[in-house]
Amino acid sequence: APAFNYAEALQKSLFFYEAQQSGELPGWNRVSWRGDSARTDGADVGLDLTGGWYDAGDHVKFGFPMAFSTTMLAWGAVEYRNGYAASGQLPHLLNNLRFVNDYFIKAHPAPNVLYGQVGKGDDDHKWWGPAEVMPMARPAYKIDASCGGADLAGETAAAMAASSMVFRPTDPTYANTLLTHARQLYTFADTVRKSYHECITDATSFYRSWSGWQDELVWGAIWLHRATGEASYLAKAESEYDRLGNENQSTTKSYRWTIAWDNKQFGAYVLLAALTGKQKYLDDANRWLDWWTVGVNGEKVRYSPGGMAVLDSWGALRYAANTAFVALLHSDRITDATRKARYHDFALRQINYALGDNPRNSSYQIGFGVNPPRNPHHRTAHGSWWDSQTVPTETRHVLHGALVGGPSAPDDKYTDSRSDYVMNEVATDYNAGFSSALAALTAKYGGTPLAGFPVAEQPDLAELSVETTVMQNEPRAVGLKAIVYNKSAFPARALTDGRFRYYFRTDGSPAQVTPGYTQGCPSPSAARQVAGDLWYVEVDCTGHTIAPAGQSQHRMEVQFKIGVPEGGTWDPTNDPSWQPTAGPNPKVPLYSGGQRVWGEEP
Ligand code: BGC
Ligand code: CA
Repeated sequence: APAFNYAEALQKSLFFYEAQQSGELPGWNRVSWRGDSARTDGADVGLDLTGGWYDAGDHVKFGFPMAFSTTMLAWGAVEYRNGYAASGQLPHLLNNLRFVNDYFIKAHPAPNVLYGQVGKGDDDHKWWGPAEVMPMARPAYKIDASCGGADLAGETAAAMAASSMVFRPTDPTYANTLLTHARQLYTFADTVRKSYHECITDATSFYRSWSGWQDELVWGAIWLHRATGEASYLAKAESEYDRLGNENQSTTKSYRWTIAWDNKQFGAYVLLAALTGKQKYLDDANRWLDWWTVGVNGEKVRYSPGGMAVLDSWGALRYAANTAFVALLHSDRITDATRKARYHDFALRQINYALGDNPRNSSYQIGFGVNPPRNPHHRTAHGSWWDSQTVPTETRHVLHGALVGGPSAPDDKYTDSRSDYVMNEVATDYNAGFSSALAALTAKYGGTPLAGFPVAEQPDLAELSVETTVMQNEPRAVGLKAIVYNKSAFPARALTDGRFRYYFRTDGSPAQVTPGYTQGCPSPSAARQVAGDLWYVEVDCTGHTIAPAGQSQHRMEVQFKIGVPEGGTWDPTNDPSWQPTAGPNPKVPLYSGGQRVWGEEP
């Protein structure tokens, strides 16, 4: 029997992409704790650039890894569509692939214009809160004919061409639309041969393609060839191939790295070997995968004692998963029995390691298997209202399906720490090759997705509440401090029309109200009589935003005094809203517009 239920892991892996959705959420989004966000992306440049995926635990839409993730996901479905179909995951894959491609279409408003980033890296990263209430500006950045980016345009061409192949059987019109964009983007890449970070400089410290753009030129041509069947694209890929990176001081193609968001040449080895049958590509592919398995000239990737192949410290499992997917595919395409078994076994070992077959006997996919991570470096899943990685202590949401970075050294050691973005961040590119490997394993070994997945989450605490404190208790009045709190996360939302009422009784004389200190919402100066001796004061915060976006942003304090005029008698303890000790007061109802969201009326 297979070691793991790969179909369940695949099912959850796709769910993660829905947790990353930006803009207006489609009706099929399954993440109960996500809401619409970043609905004005692109407005600064007069375009609708809403949609797409948040990159990782942050909220920048980095187009370069987004495109790579799309290519990798689509590639899995091009090769192992049966894995998706047999496990009922094809509709979910198509949903998610369409969502991201719809964004690429918006981001490509003219043949030589491609928006490659929305959101400024540093501004985004210094704030720690849920996507739905982001406070910072989100500038849009593009490449164009004068300031190109063959890496970005080439990868986006690959993404759309590969996706077109996935849509071809069910929606040829959409497939053709994607292909039109892919062709234009490829021509743009091929014509304006520059690095996109020279143009979108903000990407430099995040996703600069260190490998350059030559690999994307080959890669994009391969995918256009596959999607169109046109020989000219294959000829292009082959003619650009020789300029791909070599090992130092040699003419041997690089093999001591892997396919990831930066460098796709390793994927080109495998695909060109399959497409052309030529020995040179096969040699390059085998050498690369041998370095990952048995070694080349006595040298190989580092392995942990527990069997994890560790290429690099940051997001190490993603490199292992990407390699595993391509190794599975190569194993399926070649005839050499020894290498077939070698690459298959390597891939299975790496994916099983990630799913829990490791010295810690723990899964590295959130929400899957035994003892999975609970505290990923992910802003929206954490659900802080305080703009803080440490408030609250517990992560509020289960980010099902996300693969964390995992051990950062070949020592099988790992800590489930929210602050550790090297070991514990999650990302759209981490899950892409991983999903495709899971699709391949599902095709080979079967598996059953969970019925009834996902179960909608319930709020862990009162999302909206009012706390009261008795400040002064005088003979004919009490002074009160009331604080409205917004700790919403299911989903997070701004309260812009909050109103609460404090109910009290007089001895029959008219109520007297004195306004006091306020942080914004007007402090009341009059009470309303309900009937007889029952009155209330209403604090109306309409127009003031109380959002789970920071220490001061998530709360609003208002003070006021209520009582009776001289001659009256006053007993605050018979007030329906009376609560002598400071704290959350459910006898003070809070409304959002017409709806009561906290507390009870008398
Ligand atoms: C962000 C991460 C990011 C890291 C490196 C952190 O502040 O939270 O999302 O990966 O910076 O840029
Ligand atoms: Ca590159």
